[in-house]
Amino acid sequence: MATRLYTHPIFLEHLTPPGHPERPDRLRAIERVLDDEAFSALDRVKAPEGDEKTILYAHPENFVERVRAAIPQSGIVSIDADTSASPKSWQAAVTAIGAANAAVDDVFEGRASNVFVAARPPGHHAEKATAMGFCLFNTAAIAARHAQKKHQAERVAIVDWDVHHGNGTQDIFWDDPSVLYCSTHQMPLYPGTGAKSETGAGNIVNVPLAPRTGSDMFRDAFRSRVLPSIDAFAPDLIIISAGFDAHHRDPLAEINLTEDDFDWATGQLMERAGRHSSNRLVSLLEGGYDLQGLAFSVAAHVGRLMKG
Ligand SMILES: [Zn+2]
Repeated sequence: MATRLYTHPIFLEHLTPPGHPERPDRLRAIERVLDDEAFSALDRVKAPEGDEKTILYAHPENFVERVRAAIPQSGIVSIDADTSASPKSWQAAVTAIGAANAAVDDVFEGRASNVFVAARPPGHHAEKATAMGFCLFNTAAIAARHAQKKHQAERVAIVDWDVHHGNGTQDIFWDDPSVLYCSTHQMPLYPGTGAKSETGAGNIVNVPLAPRTGSDMFRDAFRSRVLPSIDAFAPDLIIISAGFDAHHRDPLAEINLTEDDFDWATGQLMERAGRHSSNRLVSLLEGGYDLQGLAFSVAAHVGRLMKG
């Protein structure tokens, strides 16, 4: 079985204002780097249409309708200071959810050894009833619930190595011990949550990193906090909230990782997926705003996924 890659042209049509870091060129940079023949064995699949009803797995209906009503007929509207929507944003967000849910189906039904979803908008800042931080709906949270509802997964681990804390994912699973949420992130930094003391129902593991943290300290934190938490939890599925903005080139933060660190972390999670989850691992793109840092990091990440 191969590593599967979900993409869709609609992801380029979620538009943000000029100069916004979360821009369609991010996906073009990923597409270019994965065009290399080193990735010829990737099983490339166009993302299926998403099922809007699955948004309700993580968000209340009145919030979903508020987002739908905010989508403009033309131009770009602001949802908050950082988050915007254009006419195709709804379809992009729902297709991102469709891809993530299909990726979960693939690893449970044996169609892929693991899956990377290159979609936007990202999702991990979207709380139960708040769109924020470039995110409309929490794709990773919806995919985790989809695994529980459709595939009877009892325990799902979401590992979030985006440089920003995934406040949305934490909010959604705060009192739900069936989902483990582990996050490494710079602190202090947007959105301000993610202190070690925020533990939910004992299922939230926050690993804040000081500005200028490099490879050694990141790997130590991963080894001492994230990996033991996964081993204790023994998940049926691992979902990665794969942001690549902890790369040293990224303009939004001050963590100094290299693409080798993402290769390493990917390998560690694959090893855990092998131990606990019958290798079931789904990776969803979150942030990453330096095009070169993003492209090199995704290449390292996907290259490692393909090694099986
Ligand atoms: Zn981020």
